[in-house]
Amino acid sequence: AIQHVDLLTIGAGGGAYPAAFRLAQAGRSVIMVDPKGAMSGNCLYEGCVPSKAIRETAEIYQSQQRLAGHGLAGAISIDFTKITMHKDAVQARRYEQHAAELAAARNIKLIQGTARLLGLHEVAVNTTDGEQRFHCAQIIIASGSDVFIPPIPGAELCLTSHDLYKPDSVLKTLPERLIVIGGGYIGLETATFFAALGTRVTLLQKGEQLLSGMDPGMVTLLTPLLDPAIRIRTGVDVTAVTLTPEGGRRVHYTRAEETDTLDGDVVLMAVGRRPVIPVGTTEIGIAVTEKGIDVGPSLQTVHPHIYACGDVNGRVPLFHAAVRQSMVAAHNILGGNIPLDYADFNHVPTTVFTLPAAAYVGLTPALAEAQGIKLQTGRYDFAEDSRAQILERMEGGIQLFFAADSLRLLGGWVVGIDAGQLIGQIGTAAAHGLTAYDLARFADQHPMSAEGIGKAARSLF
Ligand code: ADP
Repeated sequence: AIQHVDLLTIGAGGGAYPAAFRLAQAGRSVIMVDPKGAMSGNCLYEGCVPSKAIRETAEIYQSQQRLAGHGLAGAISIDFTKITMHKDAVQARRYEQHAAELAAARNIKLIQGTARLLGLHEVAVNTTDGEQRFHCAQIIIASGSDVFIPPIPGAELCLTSHDLYKPDSVLKTLPERLIVIGGGYIGLETATFFAALGTRVTLLQKGEQLLSGMDPGMVTLLTPLLDPAIRIRTGVDVTAVTLTPEGGRRVHYTRAEETDTLDGDVVLMAVGRRPVIPVGTTEIGIAVTEKGIDVGPSLQTVHPHIYACGDVNGRVPLFHAAVRQSMVAAHNILGGNIPLDYADFNHVPTTVFTLPAAAYVGLTPALAEAQGIKLQTGRYDFAEDSRAQILERMEGGIQLFFAADSLRLLGGWVVGIDAGQLIGQIGTAAAHGLTAYDLARFADQHPMSAEGIGKAARSLF
């Protein structure tokens, strides 16, 4: 029998559940489908949350070393097994919290299974108890993204971020030597966490720039601040991974037409993520490119009642962007699939959670130049910052980019202390059209790193 629902979401991650709850609240019947059988998708399973559980521990360890000799005597010892147990405990606590939210909600059900599209309003769900069919007034495709494994012989000998960060993760002890393939944000972040905890890390990057796709200006500020113990090799093409006689891993690569090998205990394959497209998507006329399902700011596909939110559309593949997109879809569904609400893809704060972190939002110089937009830059150096001095973390700074004529804030970046926190405030200001005058007049809190935002604005006058 076919069951009717008002909304079915394919996936139960950040692109799906905010809309599911909003519509259920409005009295609509909602089904979420996810093979994990839990809400939160890959963010909680193997992404943002577990990686940060490792990162924050590594940062505290690093801070303790910086303050050693200033009254914090005696080194903290590292027990990586317990660090991963803490990570698991945080994940478990959040899964419990989400299960309680779901249990308390009316009109909404989560089915553990995999969905495929059968028609414009028809979805089949494969579960361990067989197949269920639904007729859906609306559908949100929010199937997210997955680690991309390149077709390199021996790729299966490598770990991925999935193996590293999932609950009960694969790596329970700190490897002595880690080789990271890929200098994108996941590879670079992980390289810095492990280096801070004492692993010898080598990072192999195909191109010449780390964090390709991000503004080279920001990358140039970040790179010299990374732990110099991390060996970074660019222009490297990995050709194979094999086992060493001792059971380690050997990475074979070419660089400047020379071939060479490098041995490590663990190899992390981090060359990118790809959208996960549910079976049946193209068959119902939805175009799929390499980036994902093509949608505009209303999140509607070519079929106004079928939405694609989150990583699956490739616009801004970050959890918080997915959450906002999901709410936009909910508002447009409540408006009868007539676009009333729009996602702003241009003001989503993005942080590379390396040690130290680098974060950006909005228009940065490389983009501005490409668009022929003239900027005035406000600067603040963390060497002058009270909080950075107190914590012995004076590297990096804040740069704010204003339209040269109106001094309207168009974007900014932060490299160094509190970058991931500060970029939210800068993003709010940019998204709401504040100017350098507005920021200059605001009494930022002292002695917090946020006072650097007002000071960067005042540096223009
Ligand atoms: P986003 O933040 O964009 O929502 P996530 O990757 O966090 O992305 O979540 C997507 C979720 O969708 C994952 O938990 C994934 O297992 C699930 N998923 C992927 N394909 C399907 C499918 N065909 N049916 C149901 N769920 C799916």
